[in-house]
Amino acid sequence: KVADLTGLPDGVPEHFQSQGIEELYPPQAEAVEAGITDGESIVASIPTASGKTFIAELAMLSSVARGGKALYIVPLRALASEKKEEFEEFEQYGVSIGVSTGNYDSDGDWLATKDIIVATSEKVDSLVRNGAKWVDDLSCVVADEVHLVNDAHRGPTLEVTLAKLRRVNPNLQTVALSATVGNADEMADWLDATLVDSSWRPIDLRKGVLYGQALHFDDGTQQELARGKQKETAALVEDTLGDEGSSLVFVNSRRNAEAAAKRLADVTKNHLTDEERSKLREVADEIRDVSDTETSDDLANAVEKGSAFHHAGLASEHRSIVEDVFRDRLVKVISATPTLAAGVNTPSRRVIVRDWRRYDGDVGGMQPLDVLEIHQMFGRAGRPGLDPYGEAVLIAKSHEELQELFDQYVWADPEAVHSKLAAEPALRTHILATVASGFAGTEDELLDFLERTLYATQTDETGRLETVTQRVLDYLERNGFLERDDRLRATGLGHRVSQLYLDPMSAAEIIDGLRAAEDDPTALGLYHLVSRTPDMYQLYLRSGDRERYTEIAYEREPEFLGHMPSEFEDHAFEDWLSALKTARLLEDWASELDEDRITERYAIGPGDIRGKVDTAEWLLNAAERLASELQRSDEESLPSATTTAVREARKRVQYGVEEELLDLAGVRNVGRKRARRLYAAGIESRADLREADKSVVLGALRGRRKTTETILENVGRKDPSLDDVEADAEAKATAT
Ligand code: ADP
Repeated sequence: KVADLTGLPDGVPEHFQSQGIEELYPPQAEAVEAGITDGESIVASIPTASGKTFIAELAMLSSVARGGKALYIVPLRALASEKKEEFEEFEQYGVSIGVSTGNYDSDGDWLATKDIIVATSEKVDSLVRNGAKWVDDLSCVVADEVHLVNDAHRGPTLEVTLAKLRRVNPNLQTVALSATVGNADEMADWLDATLVDSSWRPIDLRKGVLYGQALHFDDGTQQELARGKQKETAALVEDTLGDEGSSLVFVNSRRNAEAAAKRLADVTKNHLTDEERSKLREVADEIRDVSDTETSDDLANAVEKGSAFHHAGLASEHRSIVEDVFRDRLVKVISATPTLAAGVNTPSRRVIVRDWRRYDGDVGGMQPLDVLEIHQMFGRAGRPGLDPYGEAVLIAKSHEELQELFDQYVWADPEAVHSKLAAEPALRTHILATVASGFAGTEDELLDFLERTLYATQTDETGRLETVTQRVLDYLERNGFLERDDRLRATGLGHRVSQLYLDPMSAAEIIDGLRAAEDDPTALGLYHLVSRTPDMYQLYLRSGDRERYTEIAYEREPEFLGHMPSEFEDHAFEDWLSALKTARLLEDWASELDEDRITERYAIGPGDIRGKVDTAEWLLNAAERLASELQRSDEESLPSATTTAVREARKRVQYGVEEELLDLAGVRNVGRKRARRLYAAGIESRADLREADKSVVLGALRGRRKTTETILENVGRKDPSLDDVEADAEAKATAT
């Protein structure tokens, strides 16, 4: 019983009870028996939505009650704010919460005063590298979605971060929350934790496969689905609606998610009350207000009819609107890519996995998804307290496939997770950081540290880690990041690279490029330089792009920093062109091209523009710091014009404007479009803005009084009020 829990801050058990949590779920009870409230380490491998967060809360709150400090590591930034909001409920019991996202290289010292800190694994890694002092004070760490150690991109960071935190404090309580995986026992071994392994769910889950008209369930029952001419997905959604239930549809690409949402809107629109319709119209307006792009419009049109899509290309504001209206049951169906299954809390009566194959660029062609991933989608079915049960359905195209899907996904156990640490790109960055932040001073100490990772627990390939480690050390030494005699030492440059959170290979590329820069590098040259580093996800070349960008490459060859590979070096040349396409996007953005035109030209979503812009800003900032580091340490110093050019290119990409607007665009609430309008009205700088005739400013800002006053205030004008500006002056200004 919750009432029997001890060791929590005063008022917390009563708080849980007021939330309707009276009795512990069985896996929660197991965790308590294993000592979760007494500082014991636990690996909890239990299904989605079975109360994992509650287990984490017990660990963190009891730790704080003993005077400690807890860290909750999330896999995605979007989850950081969701968790923070959840934990803020405990502030009334004297527990303070801090969330750390944002820039990679700040030390986050302000977090020292917080009891519970929420951050992504990359952020924690970066804080450790930058020597955040409070890391020494941690008494409890929670790793959410720890099965992601299996992920080649993000897994190694989580693994190394946990190893470092446990090294700093050998008594650290470690709580790892995982989806049901094949080898949770190995993770428990690695973390010296007790395993709580359970398939218990608070709400029944029926799993099934639809073939033709018949829905076959794992309990042996069948349901006849009235379909008529309807497609499978539409029929399933309609059927759920007949029962007042909502559906989540998983598809394999963004484009498919958008198309499905549009089609399913024709189903949901017939199931809305007048009240719902009018509320949805308001939500649609809100969506259009976020940005005036085609994606925004498509989303608003679907939402008006009770259907929505959700994928990583959406602006984050759009994503949270969609999640909210779905939880409020206004939107009846979301068509989503699998990112939604891993992320936020959006349970639904029925989950429909329409696509269980996905295009895989590495292997080529369509590949079936992992059982683990499909089961996570399944896990989103059933809202406790709202639905009598959840239902998860796959769709078969043939009779053989019906059996296949049962074997492959419905009955199958999830795969084991495997560490991806022993890959060179991962070790390159983590070995440098491990040495630079003082976790290893010799090769033996380094290997000893790496022995604490999951990789070392799992591998039976003796010597592989040593071999890769040697190769990586050679690389780091060759590029001037490390010095090696009987000890290992990071150079000034190496320390910089580690603190900037750069892949050492990105740093090497940038340094070579900057050294090759002769006089004044152009913005495109710099954008290309950062776009060809492994830290930038480049845009793909689509059909026709090879010719298009080859032509541009020759036209603008003098601007590139470094040597363009020849067309015969197939792979290298292709990479060069992908980087060029990415650089052109950044150039378009910095030349004030409309967002809408950019999304069209590159066939990407508005969220993608943001992503590229943020990465470019970070990499250019890093380039600027590397340039000053080189100037400090090098005999052959870089021309100062290079540093200036890097700074300017970074600012232009940050604000998305031409050089002449940099001053204005930096004023809060101004932004790229308003800066251009002000400039056109003769207001060319902050100084102008402070002096200008208010009616002119108002006119340039399209008569928006409130906005104008805010901007005048932000630029430091003494009397920002527009009370002295007459309505007719305003009208005149607007007319001109
Ligand atoms: P997970 O983190 O496993 O996805 P959550 O911890 O978010 O799942 O729990 C899902 C829901 O179940 C939440 O709304 C939570 O308040 C509720 N819940 C958790 N534990 C209990 C319990 N013992 N009794 C009743 N409800 C609970």
